[in-house]
Amino acid sequence: MDKKQHILRLTPRQWQEWFAAHGEPSYRVDQVLDWLYRKMVADPGEMTNFSKELRRSLSQELDCKLPEMSGNVSDSGGTTSKYRLTLHDGAVIESVLMDQGGRYSFCVSTQAGCPLGCTFCATGRGGFVRDLFPEEITGQIVHLARICGAVGNVVFMGMGEPLLNTGALLPALEALVDPSRLALGLRRVTVSTAGIPDGIRQLARHGTPPGLALSLHSPFDAQRSDLMPVNRRYPLEEVLDACGEYAGLTGRTLMLEYVMLGGVNTSPEAARGLARIAARLGAKVNLIAFNSFEAADYAPPERGEVAAFRSILEKQGVLVIQRYRRGAGIGAGCGQLAGAGPK
Ligand code: SAH
Ligand code: SF4
Repeated sequence: MDKKQHILRLTPRQWQEWFAAHGEPSYRVDQVLDWLYRKMVADPGEMTNFSKELRRSLSQELDCKLPEMSGNVSDSGGTTSKYRLTLHDGAVIESVLMDQGGRYSFCVSTQAGCPLGCTFCATGRGGFVRDLFPEEITGQIVHLARICGAVGNVVFMGMGEPLLNTGALLPALEALVDPSRLALGLRRVTVSTAGIPDGIRQLARHGTPPGLALSLHSPFDAQRSDLMPVNRRYPLEEVLDACGEYAGLTGRTLMLEYVMLGGVNTSPEAARGLARIAARLGAKVNLIAFNSFEAADYAPPERGEVAAFRSILEKQGVLVIQRYRRGAGIGAGCGQLAGAGPK
């Protein structure tokens, strides 16, 4: 129904054309970008330095709706908050705001639901609804920035597989790093993928390559296929090749994410296999304790299990980061984002 261009989708050049076509001076471009990406105001009615007629034209000709907040929950310390956002067609996504002592991280979704069905992930269990549009991705960032008053680091680790939606991810990345829009340094943006080789290559060749995190979770093909059905389509070797290319082309250090599932993927052999892959790619490892959710088939690892695994990695010279269970208590931890279906 809504065929209007979205106000967050126009590039600075398109804004130039839009204002020229409306007989407006070119400095309006800076003004509108200031409203949208510094003041985080998308409603033309609030753009007080524009004439009434101009505000009316903007409202009538463009789609100015942001994702609507339909719920939120914070952990007891108030440092992690999960926002439930309802999109124009009723699809629901979730975004997470983390406050690390005044420095913020935004965890954003790229799809409503996810088609990849990883067995340890609440989003994957819930099925797939649809891809997000670019403005629904930037809309989450504008929404979170409005709440905390600043644009935080952005991690594409919310719902969905970013590299299955490059059609929206790439324009959103452009808006993120464009100095006249969200102006985030590339170092402050990370895309996490379950391992889509074509998407990894496409991202590597894109003008603005972000940090890349590969969700590995097992160094063994058979086990990885059990945990992540996508591994049957794109086996490890193909994925690791594409990651090697990414590191080579972009010069960026990769991150390997490893969700520790108690008693499942935490053996010494798995640690050694992971260390070999990290060495091959020159990658860091992020160990994440499994965040449980209702009807989950796995358990979090024991403390000793994590320590033993970590120590093998470190003996092999791997740089290990351990993500603590931020947001887990409120269902805002990795893999706990489940509110995907339309109401
Ligand atoms: N689809 C992408 C990005 C979103 S998932 C991907 O898979 O990489 C973001 C991260 O959360 C991934 O590393 C994913 O494996 C991890 N994750 C999923 N379910 C989890 C759970 N139950 N506990 C901890 N981490 C989980
Ligand atoms: Fe999708 Fe990532 Fe969850 Fe797997 S872990 S189901 S790829 S969101």
